[in-house]
Amino acid sequence: MRIILLGPPGAGKGTQAARLAQGQKLAHISTGDMLRAEVSGGTELGKLAKNYMDRGDLVPDEVIIGMIQGRLKDGSGVILDGFPRTIAQAQALDKALTVAGTRVDRVVYFKVENEELVKRLSGRATCSGCQSPYNLSTAPPKKPGVCDRCGGKLAQRPDDQPDAVRRRLMVYEEQTAPVLDYYRKTGKVKEINAVGALDEVYGRLAAAVK
Ligand SMILES: [Zn+2]
Repeated sequence: MRIILLGPPGAGKGTQAARLAQGQKLAHISTGDMLRAEVSGGTELGKLAKNYMDRGDLVPDEVIIGMIQGRLKDGSGVILDGFPRTIAQAQALDKALTVAGTRVDRVVYFKVENEELVKRLSGRATCSGCQSPYNLSTAPPKKPGVCDRCGGKLAQRPDDQPDAVRRRLMVYEEQTAPVLDYYRKTGKVKEINAVGALDEVYGRLAAAVK
């Protein structure tokens, strides 16, 4: 099985992808995690990617595609999370899979209303002491503003402010809508309601890839 998970930031794809990978014995490929690993490992690709990230630019398609191609060579089952994000990436993925003698089997789109995403994403906070992640709306600390683990102060990033989150969601939509259309034409897309308890959403995801 080659499964693609699409959906806006904050939709919970990463958590569900990890669980699906375990349940179905598939490799979970997160381009975000791979990029971070390349950068912290100081590889050639990591250095190249870091140049873009340090400038606040998106890492170009060729770099991402080069990174992912290595993982697709053997044609085994994968869950792609955070990729493809552009039509060029989707086309390059099709090409790489064809070379490996395989194809995309299913694309699952995680649907969540924008205001729910704003609530989730603008709730994100991190302990300034031990870096533990919190969500003030879905996973708040016991004492407001204070880390449960070390007593440190919780801080929010400027780009997690509601207006910045709305802008990020708009950019995501503009970028990804064509990718969703690209796959809709192939009849491989299933949409799931990604609001609900983790188990509920997982149930819908598992049914969508059956
Ligand atoms: Zn802490």
